[in-house]
Amino acid sequence: MKTSRIPGFYNLPPDERLNLVKEYADLTDEEVKALKDTGALPLEQADRMVENVIGVIQLPLGIAVNFLINGRDYLIPMAIEEPSVIAAASNAARLARESGGFQAQSMESIMIGQIQVTGLRDPYRARFSVLMEEERIIEEANRRDPVLVAHGGGVKRVTARVIPGVHKPMLLVELHVDCRDAMGANIVNTMAEAVAPIIEEATGGDVLLRIVSNLCVERLARASVTIKKDVIGGEEVVDGIVEAYMLAASDIYRCATHNKGVMNGIIAVALATGNDTRALEAGAHSYAALHGSYKPLTVWEKTVEGDLAGTIELPIAVGVIGGATAVHPIAKISRKILKVKTARELAEVMAAVGLAQNLAALRALVTEGIQRGHMKLHARNIAAMAGAEGPLIDEIARRMVEEGNIRIDRAKELLQSLKGS
Ligand code: NAD
Repeated sequence: MKTSRIPGFYNLPPDERLNLVKEYADLTDEEVKALKDTGALPLEQADRMVENVIGVIQLPLGIAVNFLINGRDYLIPMAIEEPSVIAAASNAARLARESGGFQAQSMESIMIGQIQVTGLRDPYRARFSVLMEEERIIEEANRRDPVLVAHGGGVKRVTARVIPGVHKPMLLVELHVDCRDAMGANIVNTMAEAVAPIIEEATGGDVLLRIVSNLCVERLARASVTIKKDVIGGEEVVDGIVEAYMLAASDIYRCATHNKGVMNGIIAVALATGNDTRALEAGAHSYAALHGSYKPLTVWEKTVEGDLAGTIELPIAVGVIGGATAVHPIAKISRKILKVKTARELAEVMAAVGLAQNLAALRALVTEGIQRGHMKLHARNIAAMAGAEGPLIDEIARRMVEEGNIRIDRAKELLQSLKGS
């Protein structure tokens, strides 16, 4: 069986890494060529994706190794501009692996489409009138997407609630749509628009907004992990991580950054697979604030044995079909490397990556501090920014790390003196 545990992956040159991934994921020569070709998204294709295209912007695509999720090995493609995120995810996955890796599960791919009804004299009576039409509404909505219905998806239920408006109450009708392997925003928006006339007819009100909600509480993904105390560096580190979590749970300023760390991993996988990153951010942060105050997306506890137990739960609306996921050439290859078959499996992997990312950040914060690992990688960027090229980049980065002085002015000084000699 092929394993994602690849010691020393980071030490290999990019070509050799790519060869390993090629073998692991049975990539074709064409796919390898596309990955190497930094212009893999042709302008004509980009022009079909969004408006007013003048070019494409590229990001590094890396692989996080060592992931074991529900007993399966995964190599995780991550597209990101920030140094050390991929290394941190790989490190955390290595720790998790020693106690069986991550367990993950997900709910069905239910998205909520909202239909706002205004101008009602009697919103509660209108609510009942809509609920009486549930069958007709479902039928009309599902008629819009027979392919989805054939895949077992479509509107599953209709709910309605009266909510206070600024001046007077209004009615919010909600379609609960199983989007199966699609992210589903387009599907849901189309359906919400299609059923608006039925709702107007039933209520006598005016339908205004008809749009998906990104707070998809019926589409949660979850992951958990237990790390043995000896593997993470002892009971002190376990206690430190639990304390660090407590700070995030008690202080919104820390919590914002705690959750940003979680999203470092999730968004990098989303970008690599062509998924909608804004939808994920909106869903995650609104879910974190669901009960009125902004909370961490992960929880860290100490078990009776003194080990570290972590869990994550958040909405993850991603697709393996639809949007850019099936048209962007690199997104398609990323999915092949991941070997995920369904949107739910992808969401479960992403939840595990978010948990791993958070673990790596907290562990660094309570031990050596975040900067050591971060700045080592960052030093190369600073050296390049100072104008260094070729082997000088590594030499200047090495010296700055040694001196503990990673700054652009120092990089320029070193460059001058090295060039001079
Ligand atoms: P889509 O419009 O491409 O729809 C996917 C289609 O695939 C479905 O209509 C269905 O007929 C078909 N399909 C075939 N096999 C399927 C299967 N196994 N499971 C499900 N569907 C299957 O894509 P989408 O996912 O509806 O929309 C995603 C796009 O919508 C993203 O690009 C996103 O950025 C964008 N968007 C987002 C928002 C938002 O998040 N608020 C709003 C509008 C648009």
